[in-house]
Amino acid sequence: MTEKTIQEQSIEELYAEASEHKVNVGEVKIHAKRMAGKFRNIKWLASSVWLVFFLGPYLRYGDRQAVLFDIPNRQFHIFGITILPQDLWMLSFILLFFAILLAVVTALAGRVYCGYFCFQTIWTDIFTWIEEKLEGAPAKRRKLEKEKLGLGKIVVKIKKFSLWILISIITGLSFVAWFTDAYDLWQNLFSLQASTVAYFTILLFTAGTFVLAGFLREQTCFWLCPYARIQAVMVDTTSIVPSYDVPRGEKRGRLVKGKDIPEGQGDCIDCGQCVAVCPTGVDIRGGQQEGCITCGLCIDACDAVMEKINKPKGLVRYASWDGIMGKKELPLFKRPRVWLYSAILMVSVIMVIAGLSTMQPLELKILHARQPLFVMQSDGTVQNRYTLKILNKLTHDFPVKISVDGSKFNGLTIIGAEKEVMTHHGTVTAVTIFVKVPNKNLTEKSQPIHFIIKGKTKDGQEYTSKRESMFIGPNK
Ligand code: SF4
Ligand code: SF4
Repeated sequence: MTEKTIQEQSIEELYAEASEHKVNVGEVKIHAKRMAGKFRNIKWLASSVWLVFFLGPYLRYGDRQAVLFDIPNRQFHIFGITILPQDLWMLSFILLFFAILLAVVTALAGRVYCGYFCFQTIWTDIFTWIEEKLEGAPAKRRKLEKEKLGLGKIVVKIKKFSLWILISIITGLSFVAWFTDAYDLWQNLFSLQASTVAYFTILLFTAGTFVLAGFLREQTCFWLCPYARIQAVMVDTTSIVPSYDVPRGEKRGRLVKGKDIPEGQGDCIDCGQCVAVCPTGVDIRGGQQEGCITCGLCIDACDAVMEKINKPKGLVRYASWDGIMGKKELPLFKRPRVWLYSAILMVSVIMVIAGLSTMQPLELKILHARQPLFVMQSDGTVQNRYTLKILNKLTHDFPVKISVDGSKFNGLTIIGAEKEVMTHHGTVTAVTIFVKVPNKNLTEKSQPIHFIIKGKTKDGQEYTSKRESMFIGPNK
């Protein structure tokens, strides 16, 4: 079978290729034809965002990895921001944001995430690209599969599996590098000093990538991916997805060599190229289907065919079903669903921004002792007991000085805060202090009192945190 482009192939060759592909429909492994085109280029471009996954862990910020999910120490570092378990409420808004984003994108443009960004489809794409380079076009690959195991076949399989395993190992390694210092990880791996968890995770990801992208491929999209199952409820007749222009294409029929499309026949010449290039083996002419990952590759194929037979492009194109059937479509801003999704997206973004902007490297919480609320001292003072909980979100320990704003309390004294307190990074340091105020100076039974902590790191950076509590005395 030929490896020519659609433009170079004759109509007979296209039909022969389609028949050969049809015979193999239902094959366990789909061998999709690869061709150049607009959506193929977009797919490569979109896939390149995954370079961040491989290169991101090597980016430094200050003295540490710019983005580090430090699970053993229960800290996430994102550039200068440290997120501790106390801040994980933000995670729910981040998850909400991505869940709604996925819903809104699916409602508007189908499984566009699957077609252009999903790791499963991208890794599969890279694996099949390697396969094609080593084993040839789909017809050659099918032939090779049926051949008995000989030296030639063994060599080509070894080459292919070696490259697949190499990519799988790099994938596993890159994943782990987000959770531990990437440079240390390499060092520890080569000196066999990395943790068992690291070795196990790399092994797991290597095996997972190798099997999922190399063997299961589109079957993962069909049978394992939960998103494929729920997308049907999100897509409707207004969603813009790769669609076959039924009124224009039907009634489809084969093109006879040297003749034009006969009167009454649609523009679809039933060449099967849209099916041959589909990575999931879908025939888009049957309408939107569960297997369609909206990658647009069938559009490239059909456009090439239309160009070849001098017909306008776009027989298969990104369009809504309403648009294809000539119905009036509501503009985006008039669709209630778009407004609802946008509002939820906006709320989650605002919450995350608010959370990040109010996060402080030093946090203070005050617990006022309840039993007893106050103690009358023999010297005529009223004593309250407080436990200060100081959370140090920096990467190092540093001392802080505790003080109380005593401007409203004449004669206030503090016991337990004479010396600086060493706060330990990534954890809460608890300090108990006593505050005494002469009873005669108290004007109310309960008055607000402010606690302040101030600290200075070795590099001269100053941090302050202030909290209000209550000072309680006898009835007045
Ligand atoms: S039908 Fe078209 S858009 Fe859908 S998966 Fe196949 S090639 Fe991609
Ligand atoms: S839709 Fe286009 S690519 Fe598909 S069979 Fe018809 S003419 Fe060929």
